[in-house]
Amino acid sequence: MVNTCSAVGCTNRRRKESDIKFHRFPSCKTRRKQWLTAMKRMRLDNPSKPWEPKYFDRICSVHFIGGKPSDDPGSPSYIPSIFSFTSQAKQSRRVEDRYERLIKRRTPAPVEPINENVQLAADALLDLQNAPLFCDRGTDPDPDPLEANLRALGVQYAELQDEHKGLQAEYQRLLSENQELRENVRKGRFTYTNLNNEQMRNLTGLKSCALFLWVLSLISMFIKPVGKICPGDQLLLVLMKLRLSLTNADLAIRFKICPTIVSKIFSKCLPVISQNLKFLIEWPSKVK
Ligand SMILES: [Zn+2]
Repeated sequence: MVNTCSAVGCTNRRRKESDIKFHRFPSCKTRRKQWLTAMKRMRLDNPSKPWEPKYFDRICSVHFIGGKPSDDPGSPSYIPSIFSFTSQAKQSRRVEDRYERLIKRRTPAPVEPINENVQLAADALLDLQNAPLFCDRGTDPDPDPLEANLRALGVQYAELQDEHKGLQAEYQRLLSENQELRENVRKGRFTYTNLNNEQMRNLTGLKSCALFLWVLSLISMFIKPVGKICPGDQLLLVLMKLRLSLTNADLAIRFKICPTIVSKIFSKCLPVISQNLKFLIEWPSKVK
């Protein structure tokens, strides 16, 4: 079962082996408001407004003096008071003192018994007026089977949300790893897009990459890709073979293909190149 505490800065989660209990927020509006005021948690989408707990939200027992909420409105643990933003010792000492004073006040004094009783009766009546029809005692577990079911579903939902978050993070990690690997593969491949001007000149005789691209633009529409070898690399392969007289085995190693494919590319591309680039050949004039 997973339940996290709603208090700001608290990382307590429901665990089987833990003594920490998780309490629902009171259904009594007055008390509920007192709890929320004490928590000082603001809404994420509107930080000027106090946060409102959902049905499944809980607060853990460590925020109550004595380790559990009390239903006595005079008790220091009627409202949670121990938070990351409060000085715990100071805070608990202060409310405990106040509670002790209140208890003393409530004990009937022998001198003026009538006035004190009147005060107590008035307090009790006021308490009754504020008391909700059903007082949420923050017990754990819930005796109502329907509520228990809802609660279990809520827990399951929270678990699935956690799992979803984990999977999302894993997906993002794998995505960026995949991109990085693709980039590495791209950079390490022997292809015309990875060559600089000097390499282009040495390998093909064409003076620059720009010139190579222009030549490619004249013939690319007549050349179909062979496996993973695009028209650009096929042109590069043919030009390299013509210029450097490389063997098919040599070219096969560079382009990571088998020598028969090199041979196939060469025999298919050469006629296309010769046909489409023959207008570039300047023949000497016959007129003398
Ligand atoms: Zn907590």
